[in-house]
Formats: sequence, structure tokens, C-alpha cells
Amino acid sequence: MENKNTSRRTFIRNTGVAALGLPFLQHGIETLNKQHMESKKDKLGIALVGLGGYAGGQLAPALLQTEHCYLAGIVTGSPDKIPLWQKKYNIPDKNVYNYQNFESIGNNPDIDIIYVVLPNNMHAEYTIRGFDAGKHVICEKPMAINVADCDRMIAAAKKAGKELSIGYRLHFEPYNLEMARLGTSKTYGAIKKMEGGFGFKAQAGQWRLDKKMAGGGPLMDLGVYVIQGMCYTSGLEPLSVTATEGTKTDPARFPDVEQSLSWTFEFPGGITGNGKSSYDDSYNFLRAEAEKGDFGLNPAYNYNGQRGTTAAGVMDFPQVNQQARQMDAFALSLKNKTRSIVPGELGRRDVRYLQAIYESMATGKKVSINK
Ligand code: NDP
Repeated sequence: MENKNTSRRTFIRNTGVAALGLPFLQHGIETLNKQHMESKKDKLGIALVGLGGYAGGQLAPALLQTEHCYLAGIVTGSPDKIPLWQKKYNIPDKNVYNYQNFESIGNNPDIDIIYVVLPNNMHAEYTIRGFDAGKHVICEKPMAINVADCDRMIAAAKKAGKELSIGYRLHFEPYNLEMARLGTSKTYGAIKKMEGGFGFKAQAGQWRLDKKMAGGGPLMDLGVYVIQGMCYTSGLEPLSVTATEGTKTDPARFPDVEQSLSWTFEFPGGITGNGKSSYDDSYNFLRAEAEKGDFGLNPAYNYNGQRGTTAAGVMDFPQVNQQARQMDAFALSLKNKTRSIVPGELGRRDVRYLQAIYESMATGKKVSINK
């Protein structure tokens, strides 16, 4: 959706009507507004639930670049955020909700999709309430803090006859797609081993460090990207895992979640996947060692700026807006009545792996990963 003011400026610039007098200009603006409304009508309306860092910093700006959906509404518990969001994204009063009146969004034809961008322990509740309101839902990663919640979310989607998609943006990012292509096509022969890690320094006092809200530490937040990367690069699912918690050097900052951890997946065919994640160290990579050469990304998981190398040289792909692509792909799948390529079942699969890693970390034993 193009901002109305920008559209107006673009129109004036493109046609040079400013020199031609007011009646023509007025006609031009009316035509443009009509086009704007018509194009909006063709797009599915998204309501963002939880106006925090990711919603404000990435998703809302991305929704100005999408072709098949636009930012139609907001759901927030912070009234002070509302005026700025309404002004910036042209959101009418009737499309603004809070957590109490959220259900009444069901009566709003402007909203087709609810996008849950809340702390992890709230994903299940708001996804299910979104389905109960009769809307499609995108839920951020990790899908939930346990598999039982994932099951309830998937069941709610089925009951409502609506679609559930997970915010797995890297499935729409060219460098990560290339990892998947190189690995699954066996361009460099069969993969023997994979390695991946994602860590950053997390500040104290946020919900991410609270086990009840986050479901765990860096594994839930960052490790999930590494797990995903190994699975789409190999096209395989792990059979078992052995995990070890890192040394906790700052117990005051991490009273009930891990500060760091590492794990080893065993994949079919004897392929190993060594992963690590941390809230106290910075790294961001994904590598595969194959029979005829290696390939990898560093950084691998950022919003942009991926870099990749293969045995043949440096990867070179355009930078894209991953979030815009991800939301457009879901909107298009709804229009075409096909399934999301990153459905709830994929989110559930990864929560199973997260739980298996935590089980191994707690018991010190190798854990088989069952369906
Ligand atoms: P923030 O803490 O920045 O924002 C969360 C928002 O949730 C808050 O601003 C608030 O919005 C709302 N909220 C409601 N209740 C609470 C509560 N009790 N405590 C804190 N916030 C509350 O988190 P992020 O935006 O970074 O993360 C949100 C989700 O998005 C997480 O699940 C995270 O894993 C995921 N994420 C995904 C990324 C990706 O690349 N796919 C990147 C970053 C995050 P309000 O004031 O409007 O009510």
C-alpha cells in the first residue's frame, strides 16, 4: 500500500500537473484516491497484535511494500502507542483494538489476517482467539512454548476452517533458499555434517529472559533459526539429539533460563548437525560440509546483509524484504486457496525439537525425537 501523501507527490511528479491548474489536479487526486481504495480492496487486511520491537521495526514497514496485503488494524495494550501508529499507517479508529475487546475483530470485514507478535507464552492464546474470531492467523516464532499448545492452535485452525502460518521469514530469503537448493539437490554431493549458531548479548530485564514468558532462553528465540536452517539445508529431520548447557557466568542475568547451550542432532545417513545458541555471545552462521565441497552463510539469519560462500566462490543474490515476501506469500496462498509453505505443522515440528533439546540438556542423555 502506498502512503496517500507519497502517492499524491508521486502523482504530481509523474504527471507534472502542478503547472496545469487546480481542476485537473483535483481530478488527478480523486482518480488516485479511487485507485488507492481499489488496490486496497484487492489486498487482504492484516491486524498486528502486540506493537513491540518486531511489529514496529520490521512488520509494519514491510506492510508498506506488500502487494497482496496491507496493515489494516492494530491490537495493543498500550493506548499511548495508538496515535502514532494511526497517523503513520493511516489506520481508522474502527480498526484499533485492545486485548479485552480483541474478539470483536471478528465483525470487522477489513481484517482478514491476525498477526500475533506477542511474547512467546501468549502465542497460543491469541492465535486461538484469532481463529475463534473467524480470521486467518500468522503466529511469530517459536510457535508456542510447548507441543500441547501447538496442538491446540492447529486444532483451532481446523475447527475454524482457517489457515495458520508461522513467521518463518528466512524461507523467503534468497541466500537461505540457496542453502536449501545446494543441500537438497546435492550440488556438492551428499552432506556429511552441518554446523550453525546464533547468539547475541541480551539485556537484563526483558521477557526473553523470563522462562514463564519465553519458554526458555536463547534456544527458543535464536536456536530455532539454526534448527530450521539445518532442516531446510539437508531436507531431513533429526532422529535424536544430545545437548549440553553452557557455563552460566552471569546467574543474576539468567536466573531461570540458559545463558548458552550447544547440541548435536543425528540425522538419517549418519549426518550430524552441531548447533549452538547464546544470549551472551555474538555469532550468526550456518555451514554444510558436503562430499565435494562446503557451503555456508555468515551472517545467516539477519533481516538483511546475508553473505554466502560455496566451494565455487561467493554467493550473489539481491537483498529482499523478507517480511514483505513472507506476508505476501501467505496472502497469496489464501487468495489461491493453497496452504502456507510455513504452516503450523512446521512450527509444531520445531517446538518438538526444542523440547527434545531441553530434555537432553536436563538429563544429560541422548533423546530420541519421535513424531
Ligand atoms: P517486544 O517485547 O518488543 O514486543 C512485544 C509486545 O507484546 C509489547 O510491545 C506489547 O505490545 C505486547 N505485550 C503484551 N503483553 C506483554 C507483556 N506481558 N510483556 C511484554 N510485552 C507484552 O518483543 P518482540 O517484538 O521482539 O517479539 C515479539 C515476538 O516476535 C516474539 O515471539 C519473538 O520471538 C518474535 N520475533 C520474531 C522475529 C523474526 O525475525 N521472525 C524477530 C523478533 C521477534 P503492546 O504494548 O502493543 O501491547
